[in-house]
Amino acid sequence: MKKIIFTLLITALFAFIFLYSTNIYSRAGGGHSYSDSSSRSHSSSSSSSRSSYRSSKTHIHSTGKGSTVNPVAGLIGLFFIGGTILIIILISRKVPAANKYNETIKRANDMTETIKTQDREINIKKIKELDPAFSEEKFIERVKKAFLIIQQGWSEQNLSLMRSFVSNGIYARFSVQIDMQRYMGFRNQLENIKIINSWVDTAYSDNLYDVINAGFAAQMDDKNIDLKTGKILQTNTSEPFTEFWTFMRRKGAKTTGKAGLIESRCPNCGSAIKITESGNCEYCKAYIMGGQYDWVLTEITQECEYSGQTSRNIQGIGEMINKDPDFNASVIEDKTSVMFFNIASSLLFGDGHHIRNICRPDYFEQIRSSRQFKGVFDTQSEWYTSLDDVAIGAVELKRIILNQPDGFDRVEVVVKWSGANCERNSRTKEVRNKGENHTNIQTYTLARRTSIKSSAYYNFKTVPCHNCGAPISNSTHYQCEFCGSAINDGTRDWVLINISPL
Ligand SMILES: [Zn+2]
Ligand SMILES: [Zn+2]
Repeated sequence: MKKIIFTLLITALFAFIFLYSTNIYSRAGGGHSYSDSSSRSHSSSSSSSRSSYRSSKTHIHSTGKGSTVNPVAGLIGLFFIGGTILIIILISRKVPAANKYNETIKRANDMTETIKTQDREINIKKIKELDPAFSEEKFIERVKKAFLIIQQGWSEQNLSLMRSFVSNGIYARFSVQIDMQRYMGFRNQLENIKIINSWVDTAYSDNLYDVINAGFAAQMDDKNIDLKTGKILQTNTSEPFTEFWTFMRRKGAKTTGKAGLIESRCPNCGSAIKITESGNCEYCKAYIMGGQYDWVLTEITQECEYSGQTSRNIQGIGEMINKDPDFNASVIEDKTSVMFFNIASSLLFGDGHHIRNICRPDYFEQIRSSRQFKGVFDTQSEWYTSLDDVAIGAVELKRIILNQPDGFDRVEVVVKWSGANCERNSRTKEVRNKGENHTNIQTYTLARRTSIKSSAYYNFKTVPCHNCGAPISNSTHYQCEFCGSAINDGTRDWVLINISPL
């Protein structure tokens, strides 16, 4: 028994060394993302989604991994770890309490796993009660297809095959990153894509949706290819990584067994997919991208940010749902992702217009005059404040405050992302004064007129003009193109009124 515990302990320690040294590696390197700080897989190979994370890689002329290891930091780290291991080994040998402690931790972890598994079984059973044709195996087969379609679209810089089964937030993420690659003159070709394992990790239902988090363990190589010459600019070796892909559909939607959004078919009428600008099938006119008929990909979470929790504590959500039954936390998070990428793209491309339609006018003025956006709104300026290596980590609704004295409701959403501040030349695209890549935690405050309610029909869709009903595209317009009504005053949908700290 003692021997087993000892072996376990050593194994755990080696796992610890690996993770810890990875931290050193990535912190010293700082090449890209956010997620690097806790998992090595992100530092080199890039799946579309991970690219989404570490993303807009712009130093295309660097070779290899784009990160360098600081050998001194590494050595210090190793000595530190070595010392820690020795101490722990000695303690565990001499003091039986240490073993006991470890065993307690292990038992607690096992218990969490057991609860998670039970939870998962119960929730899948609930889904099957309402949708007897649902099968985990078939679901996984389909989402594996989705996974590969997205990698292909990423490589080819063509989002059309994935458009119908991804949310606005996911679409914005890929669009901005691919636009950035194009802007810098390359594409990121993914090769030797291998799904090592895929599984249903958690399943649950919230007030409106069935939600399934599918786990993917995968591996792939990638290289950056010059768009003009076809020359290979950079090659990255592959390392396995794990991601969790969140798929949602409206409660009551049923498995049809027929081809659907992932197979490029309208899940309502079965015709080859062709969607209008507002997300409706061109043939049967049904709105097919809101999860009413089929699963939609709404989030991609790196392993280091994934909690696997199936219920969350959001302050004020009960009160909000009482008042507005079609309100949904994931929908707010998706909207916030879109806002984040609008702001990121303004900074990346030096074009402030992407911000105007998402902000309430008073806040837009504030952003426009802030030094963090210097040069972004000025087309004459040679250098503008910019970002590099932008990657999103997590977007989470934390708090809802109803009935504010100004006539608005508010939601507060925490956005975790990483990137490096820099300045970019609007002509040559050259980057200067680049700072350290660091993690940012910001709270986005969104507001909406107290009298406005959500409509589940428009969840994951851009809400149309409040005045005339015309569709609103996620463009640079801040007025309805048809009737001229303001679209950013909080009478149509949630608008951004603050980012803290900016
Ligand atoms: Zn149709
Ligand atoms: Zn209008």
